[in-house]
Amino acid sequence: MLRGVLLDLDDTLIDHHGAVRAALDLWLPELGVASTSETSALWDEVQERHMVAWRERRVSFAEQRRRRLRDFLPQIRIPYEENDLDPIFEGYLRAYESSWRRFPDVDEALAALGAAGLTTAVLTNGTVEQQRAKLAKAGLEGRVGPLFTVEDLGVAKPSPDAFRLACERIGLEPARVVSVGDRHDLDVLPARAAGLRAIHLDRRDAGPHDEPDRLTTLTGLAAALSR
Ligand SMILES: [Mg+2]
Repeated sequence: MLRGVLLDLDDTLIDHHGAVRAALDLWLPELGVASTSETSALWDEVQERHMVAWRERRVSFAEQRRRRLRDFLPQIRIPYEENDLDPIFEGYLRAYESSWRRFPDVDEALAALGAAGLTTAVLTNGTVEQQRAKLAKAGLEGRVGPLFTVEDLGVAKPSPDAFRLACERIGLEPARVVSVGDRHDLDVLPARAAGLRAIHLDRRDAGPHDEPDRLTTLTGLAAALSR
């Protein structure tokens, strides 16, 4: 009998990918650079590489931001001094924060989870401060259960311990909890290793397509949970 749902935040409840696109469209022209699919792919690649170092607690959050710019700026031919990095990142951040939105299918899904009497919580790899601000800006503050991040759990996804600890915090056995998230490697496989059920929310239909517990929108979540 299912009792709880651990929801990922970025690209599950909040359109992180869309916010990054919108932010690059605002910010890059300020630097005198055109925002293209190439600059966007480059930004994604640099972000993923350095976020791993933060998740593994090898660098601070501020330092992973600087590392992203040290890789990114030379490739878009923007000269910089070390002291410029934080102010330059601020420009991106303002644009990113102004673009935070929840997905349109979130309201109905949360209502269905509530009606089914399920406990909810958010499990994310971001910082407490930024992820709290994101929930508030996207109109989700107080509408989903507690927020657990790498900072308060001391461990990040893809460690199965992140899922075990989150279940412990909400007082539920892992076998009674389902993880729902967009990253198969971060939200699905380690959740199963911790004994939870896991549903892959594959919003961009990128696969793996042989994943048996898979949705492309949250609209089908309540039905999927009753299966
Ligand atoms: Mg995510």
